[in-house]
Amino acid sequence: MCALITNRPTRQKVMTPAALASEDILFDIKGAARSFAAGECFALSTVPSERVFALRTGCVSAIVDLPKGRQTEIGMIGPGGLICANAAFGMSQPFSTFIATVRGVAWCMEVQDFAKIAARDRRLQDAVFKHQQWLLFQAQQRAGCSIAHTIGQRVAGWLLALQDTTGLPEIPVTQEVIAQRLGGTRTTVSAALAQLKREGLIRCQRGRIGIDDRSRLQSSACECYATLKRSKSEIYG
Ligand SMILES: [Zn+2]
Repeated sequence: MCALITNRPTRQKVMTPAALASEDILFDIKGAARSFAAGECFALSTVPSERVFALRTGCVSAIVDLPKGRQTEIGMIGPGGLICANAAFGMSQPFSTFIATVRGVAWCMEVQDFAKIAARDRRLQDAVFKHQQWLLFQAQQRAGCSIAHTIGQRVAGWLLALQDTTGLPEIPVTQEVIAQRLGGTRTTVSAALAQLKREGLIRCQRGRIGIDDRSRLQSSACECYATLKRSKSEIYG
């Protein structure tokens, strides 16, 4: 089991990240910016969280643990997104495990402080509601996707979504991590990536994947990618 991020935050005034900042929220919190690496665990579904995190860069995945040590991703959280945001509603128990997929920077704050701010700041309440709505929609779509579409379609859509989320030209991710996130095997994910590479849609090099032809890669993905992208635009406006 991965170690939880436990550094104690210090008091400072910070601006909320992109999605929240779009609503011009500036709030005084006990927050501290800290870097995180791929694979770091922000919260476990089985342990009440003491902190809320707001992502500045990178990507964190909401994960559901399955029998026999398997996992599957039910949603991606990117810059502007929140981790353990249900603390705003008085719930410190995360609804899933949260693990970093792409390294980045996050602000962290005590759950109690976040809840106090959320109780008095209507704009933050709205931002949290939108964020939770987006996570719920992702979970619903991913549930259907996992039983209705091929691993090749899902890998293509996942790569597109991860690049959209991180904004990185090359995605630092391994076949093993893709398999873990999609609940597949390394063999099937490797075969799917090899096919996309043969078709000239992606390139793989030293733990990084670059997308060479987004249009054709989108054609290879199932409709879930476009559905999720459209839904995110509708939620965030
Ligand atoms: Zn799908």
